[in-house]
Amino acid sequence: MLNRSLFAKKPRFEYETVGSTPAEAESIPMPEKATFFLKKPLDGSAVLSLKVGDRVKTGQKISPFPEGDACIVSSVTGTVSSIAAYTGDYGQTCTAVTVAVEGEDDFDDSFGKAMDEGGVEAVKDYLACIPGAPSLELLSNPDSSIDTLVICGVEKDLLVATNQHVMKTNITYMNAGISALKKITGAHKTVIALPQSLMADAGGLGGASGVELRVIDTVYPAWLPRMIMKDIIGKPVPADKTCEDLGVCFISAEAVAAVGMAVQERKMPVTKHLTLNGKNLEQRMVAARIGTPVSSVFSAFDIPLFDKDRIIVGGPMTGAAIFMEDHPVCPDTDALMIQAGADLPEVSDTPCINCGECVRICPANIAVNMLVRFLEARQYEDAAEMYDLYSCVECGLCSYVCVSKIPIFQYIRLGKYELDRIRKEEEAADV
Ligand code: SF4
Ligand code: SF4
Repeated sequence: MLNRSLFAKKPRFEYETVGSTPAEAESIPMPEKATFFLKKPLDGSAVLSLKVGDRVKTGQKISPFPEGDACIVSSVTGTVSSIAAYTGDYGQTCTAVTVAVEGEDDFDDSFGKAMDEGGVEAVKDYLACIPGAPSLELLSNPDSSIDTLVICGVEKDLLVATNQHVMKTNITYMNAGISALKKITGAHKTVIALPQSLMADAGGLGGASGVELRVIDTVYPAWLPRMIMKDIIGKPVPADKTCEDLGVCFISAEAVAAVGMAVQERKMPVTKHLTLNGKNLEQRMVAARIGTPVSSVFSAFDIPLFDKDRIIVGGPMTGAAIFMEDHPVCPDTDALMIQAGADLPEVSDTPCINCGECVRICPANIAVNMLVRFLEARQYEDAAEMYDLYSCVECGLCSYVCVSKIPIFQYIRLGKYELDRIRKEEEAADV
């Protein structure tokens, strides 16, 4: 929702908040195929431990790599139909495993057995694959010094209500998830960040020891992790640090509820909730198996896709366009939206006119007009050292207000990605 004040020039956005009776999640039918991404690239010469034609069960942990160091959990029962390299944003490569789905679920019982034998500690690698995609680093790194867990009952972008929906409908599982995560991480403090509208529902969560409920303002971008660190946790994150460096780990409400469900039911949750925004911004809460092609989500609701339409994973400010209708719903897909070709926001190669709109709106007080010059020239080191590239909280407001229609936010993301890649390559070369 956009409010333009008569007295202030800055646009003001309000996050979506769910009402007292949230829309029921609409489950879409089982897809004909499901695809799962592993972050590890496919090495053409490697002998794989998973083959085309192998049968997999629902909830089964699988990995094509013999070392077993990268795994996925199948959300369906069926036969592996392809194992292929996949190239994503910025040319990053990963491995895509596709399963041709059988009609009925045949549930794998390894998760329950592992829980019975070794408790929650024994199933950490499963839990990294659940809906909400909790940080693998958080769950499996014995050296991390996470002291505080921040559970987000809020969203990263506008027009999204997924985590609020889960909080409103899964309080019992969330309680179980909080207990399990405390055990896994050793965190002493748990903060639940939520809008005022969820306080009544979340009352039952505040009772557990060390759990604190904190209401956050609904003005964008107050729900972004770095903003929460500054405004709610009281630990502003320096440009060269992460939230984890300061002992704080963010996890979505959906991930917490899924951990709780897994632990209580002794079965892997395989359904992802997501907010679907159609072309006229008509909104639905959808429940789909992880791995479902996004085209199946749209066709379940008779949303037609035309040539120039743009599919966006995420919300309108920070979402990323995808170019394959077969792209799957992933454990971290909180929202999908379609922009009709005729409504696509304009992007141009008009130079910056130094109007200062981006500087005035930036919540991180960055000289965005200068930063963008260095990013356009691919001078990423200078962008970071002289113009605070890493202080950016990635809200996208600068792109929204830019009168020259410069895709500033996309330049920022590319700049961070490239600089991280270059620095890693330099570190590797030094070893
Ligand atoms: S995306 Fe733009 S407006 Fe937002 S913090 Fe980064 S530079 Fe500032
Ligand atoms: S809003 Fe766009 S045109 Fe104006 S100063 Fe920023 S980058 Fe330049």
